[in-house]
Amino acid sequence: MRIFYPGDTGYDDERSGFQTGLRHEPQVIFAVENARDVEQAVHHAETRGLDHTVHTTGHGLTTPATGVLISTRRMNNVEIDPTTRTARAEAGAVWQQVIEQASPHGLAPLSGDASDVGVVGYTLGGGFSVLAREFGFASDRVRKTEKVGDVVTALEFDLLEIDQVHAGELHFDAEHAEAVFEAFHSWDLPDHVTPTLTTLGDVVRLTFASTRPFDVDHLRVAPTLIDEFGRKPFAEAAGKPLPPHTYQGDNVLLDDLPLDVLHRVRQAASNAGVPVFLGLMPLGGALKTEATHLLKLISPLLGVEQQHEEVFDEVRSFVVGRSRNFRYAVG
Ligand SMILES: Cc1cc2nc3c(=O)[nH]c(=O)nc-3n(C[C@H](O)[C@H](O)[C@H](O)COP(=O)(O)OP(=O)(O)OC[C@H]3O[C@@H](n4cnc5c(N)ncnc54)[C@H](O)[C@@H]3O)c2cc1C
Repeated sequence: MRIFYPGDTGYDDERSGFQTGLRHEPQVIFAVENARDVEQAVHHAETRGLDHTVHTTGHGLTTPATGVLISTRRMNNVEIDPTTRTARAEAGAVWQQVIEQASPHGLAPLSGDASDVGVVGYTLGGGFSVLAREFGFASDRVRKTEKVGDVVTALEFDLLEIDQVHAGELHFDAEHAEAVFEAFHSWDLPDHVTPTLTTLGDVVRLTFASTRPFDVDHLRVAPTLIDEFGRKPFAEAAGKPLPPHTYQGDNVLLDDLPLDVLHRVRQAASNAGVPVFLGLMPLGGALKTEATHLLKLISPLLGVEQQHEEVFDEVRSFVVGRSRNFRYAVG
């Protein structure tokens, strides 16, 4: 194991990650390689009255750590057992590793739309996969959790017999947003289909996936900029890594989202004065939760909590909770 203090060569690299707007500011970094190293790091923190925080990829950085940072990226072994259809992933493993090792066996994990996200961090937040409505939360599939205190050193979880999926995306110019939002909202959604709606500046993007066939014709309510839908290997639906960048974001879980409210949210996001991208995922199906929708906001800059809160004000009376995932650079 390597240990880094401020000023050491490698300290900056070790505390950096996908989020470039914020970095951890630890007194010491334990770059762990096994569970015994994690024990040592936790012991160091506890005996000195310091906080300890885990850093894997930095995708989910909320508040920068100031005490002990446990960097897990070297502790990233993944083992697949095709007989029992299980995977064991160490603390630093990312989904791409699991997908690559599982797919030759016709198996797949319940990973999300970015394959470079950490398996453990994602799963601890429930894990909304690209097939979430068909198969439930990633955390529903956990068989065994190995821990040192509150630090998960490895997870063992079920893989699913998934090879090909029906998946794709439609992109529209934002000038058609009202019609696209309406078509998305009125979709008589089969329980096996997992869709998302995302705004990205001038574009509204719809994505959808299932292991079973389904129809998206009714979503083509305006000319499409991208129209891609078909049968493909699960890995292709599992998202490509993005380059590191600066972003701030938060989310709410809702128990209803009437169309007029959705339109007000859309307008509030587009009138926020700063870029606010909106993400909407209908829940239900195999996701056993009282919430019917997950609404996410994300901006490519920091210091926009107030603008996000003003957009969330439009849905305040429907809020029943918040997902631990999809919270970025917020305390
Ligand atoms: C581009 C992008 C796409 C995403 N897509 C999805 C998606 O499709 N579905 C979804 O559900 N989520 C998604 N997320 C959210 C993601 O799952 C969370 O941000 C998650 O916390 C990232 O975990 P990490 O380990 O990669 O990040 P890190 O920033 O390294 O860790 C985040 C936090 O997770 C906890 N954590 C991580 N590892 C451990 C451990 N071993 N023991 C204890 N705690 C630990 C810690 O609290 C840590 O601070 C996405 C995020 C981004 C930025």
